[in-house]
Amino acid sequence: MGTCGETRARGWPMSVSGTVMGGARPDDARRHNRAAVLRRLHRDGPCTRAMLVTELGLNRSTIKSVVEELTLSGLVSERLPAQRSGAGRPSLLVLPRPHAAVVLAVDIRVDRVSTALIGLGGEILERLSWRLNERSRQPLEVLTKVIESARLLIDELGAPVRAAGVAVPGVVRNADGLVRQAPYLSWADVPLGEQLTAGLRMPVAVANDAELGALAEHTRGVARGASNVVFVVGDVGVGGGVISDGVALRGAYGYLGELGHMVVRPDGRECHCGYRGCWETEVCEAALLRALDLPPGTVRGELVAELRELAADPAAALARLAGFTRWLSIGLVNVVNMFAPELVVLGDLLVALPCSVLDAVSVEVRERSMIGRALGDTRVVRSVLGSDAKLIGAAELAFSPVLDAAAT
Ligand SMILES: [Zn+2]
Repeated sequence: MGTCGETRARGWPMSVSGTVMGGARPDDARRHNRAAVLRRLHRDGPCTRAMLVTELGLNRSTIKSVVEELTLSGLVSERLPAQRSGAGRPSLLVLPRPHAAVVLAVDIRVDRVSTALIGLGGEILERLSWRLNERSRQPLEVLTKVIESARLLIDELGAPVRAAGVAVPGVVRNADGLVRQAPYLSWADVPLGEQLTAGLRMPVAVANDAELGALAEHTRGVARGASNVVFVVGDVGVGGGVISDGVALRGAYGYLGELGHMVVRPDGRECHCGYRGCWETEVCEAALLRALDLPPGTVRGELVAELRELAADPAAALARLAGFTRWLSIGLVNVVNMFAPELVVLGDLLVALPCSVLDAVSVEVRERSMIGRALGDTRVVRSVLGSDAKLIGAAELAFSPVLDAAAT
């Protein structure tokens, strides 16, 4: 039986559990407990006080006072649940108030920029996107338009925005948001973080788009509850984000994630990075077009429609995409052997691959990789957040310090 797109949740995310502070000073404990409740509500949505007691391992009186403090701060509200369970006084439902903490999320792609205001709890409150061409892809053009777009969205919302997170398809220095290289945008050493911080007048964090896709899938997508996850995005290029033991791996300066430039075929095709045989030359959009005999430059919608049509005939899909399937499997076997994930999530264009192809890749990864055999159930699944994954990840990047500050 195939496992296409299937996944299972396995308990609460690591960073939400284990929140009890023993032996801490009262102020620290209070701040820690407020942050734990706020993060729980932000990531997993409304719940009763009784659920907070159980999930966070705090006693009833602590939860009562924490929720009352957060209510006074305007960050949460409480109401009676719509349906009562059992006799007696019902436990109040605690809800995050989306407008009480809002961040700006920006997803810069090769052909499009998406911006959104996202509220506490993860609700997208406002959004605006535009297409890019060769001229409008210049760093200054993008920067100016992002700032304009943010002003429009903030005016529309009428609520303050506390921070911004930005996803970029390239090698990004996390500390200051310097984009070292984004080959498909033709950007090199663009101080995007500094410029946006000055232009938007708020804290701005910039990160690689695949890293943020992994964060989004781990927080709100198909990888919720999994502790070890690799997110692979296949688009014009290929990148990856890795969650290990519940924490994002970042490497030196935050540069980890260039899985697409893993060399799988030394005498292979020329890559954008200047060398030959990188994995992305075999599993990118251009490789799919070649496999389906579609001309270079075919619009994305047409390629996706062709893949959907092909999915109706599993055997034909496997035959036509045999080479693509082989290279995707080879790369993922390497990735699984390196990072030992329980779950590999495929994003962007790879979501459109037919189920028969994904199942074949899953089997190959499980049987051929040492770690897949050792783990026994390493799964390869599709992203469920679709084209919003990186935008949602950018919001979560911005939210992390905002939630800490809100809890003080
Ligand atoms: Zn390369």
